[in-house]
Amino acid sequence: MSLAELQELERGSVMGSYVRSPVEFVRGAGTRLWDADGEEYLDFLCGISVTNLGHCHPRVVAAIHEQAGRLMHTSNLFYTEPAMRLAQRLAESSLHGKVFFCNSGAEASEAAIKLARKAHPGGEIVVVYGAFHGRTYGALSATPQESKQAPFAPLVPGFRAVAATPEALTGAVDEHTAAVLLEPIQGETGVNVLSEELLQAARSACDEHGAALVFDEVQCGMGRTGTLWAYEQTGVVPDALTTAKALGGGLPIGALVTGERLADVFSPGDHGSTFGGGPVVAAAALAALELTGEPELLEHVSELGNRLAAGLERLPHVLSVRGRGLMLACELDISAPDLVRRALLGERLIVNATGPTTVRLLPPLTISSGELDEGLERLGAALAGQDEG
Ligand SMILES: *Cc1c(COP(=O)(O)O)cnc(C)c1O
Repeated sequence: MSLAELQELERGSVMGSYVRSPVEFVRGAGTRLWDADGEEYLDFLCGISVTNLGHCHPRVVAAIHEQAGRLMHTSNLFYTEPAMRLAQRLAESSLHGKVFFCNSGAEASEAAIKLARKAHPGGEIVVVYGAFHGRTYGALSATPQESKQAPFAPLVPGFRAVAATPEALTGAVDEHTAAVLLEPIQGETGVNVLSEELLQAARSACDEHGAALVFDEVQCGMGRTGTLWAYEQTGVVPDALTTAKALGGGLPIGALVTGERLADVFSPGDHGSTFGGGPVVAAAALAALELTGEPELLEHVSELGNRLAAGLERLPHVLSVRGRGLMLACELDISAPDLVRRALLGERLIVNATGPTTVRLLPPLTISSGELDEGLERLGAALAGQDEG
């Protein structure tokens, strides 16, 4: 089927909630993707920080293949080994409490919100401006962005949004607060690293008033910033964290992981998911988590993150670079959406725009320095292309 035919099907049958780029991908391996014409692309977006181990990592593929041929689904009414082992591994790798499995980042936010409310009945959830926690109603209510929320009012009550400053957070948390929900690094709104002072203020305020501090690590977790979890590079340990995106090595899975204090808040019947932690995704996630936790890989992320940031700073039209590890954004003095289009269609480099002048880069953690330099060259060419009109 040609691209024109796919676009025709989309126009007739797919709801218009996405603007797709005019490319059909048919194959991926490592840092590269190939379109239907056999053209090769460098992927510096990873399906929005999902294919962190590169496309079709052989160990993830093998785990999926093996499990899919044996058993695909039983529901959570029974035991399967991959789910139990994944829960243990996730808890051991982070907060040492317990795990609830779901299928996406938004669902992980929902689980966190429900858990916080159960632990503190009627309590308020405090979030900060610039946050993104997902599109379902609870997660959307925790996402204080006018354009995303307004068409869908009324939202879920009991959420309070404040400026992302230590003072505003401290002022907003009191005995009515069930939880403070934060992304240590805000991804969808342009890779904004929350300050150490803000995270410390959130921790102190939660401790003082018995509220839960929950970190949304759906995008910044799973090795993206050079440690398995982003909170490890801060002086703050949350009471719970959410993960999804890269956790399944390319398959959809989400999880809420608690520390010991919140481990036993949910009782039978409180929450559920038909597919959550199914054996195939859990087997894929076990492989992904094992590979991502390798100290050599995490060190590689820090090194290549520095190399990428330094390379970006030398490119034309780049005003500034921010982020951590391989989660970076550049501020441009030209249109970011135009640049992204030129990079994709002209240079076969995949990046994305999170705002009118902001380009986000989320290359695979497994990227080689050669591929990284090649990506920088292609981006440089796309940026220079601006000057030729
Ligand atoms: C992507 C994202 C979500 C939502 O995840 P979905 O799987 O799309 O529901 C939530 N929080 C953060 C920080 C994200 O980046």
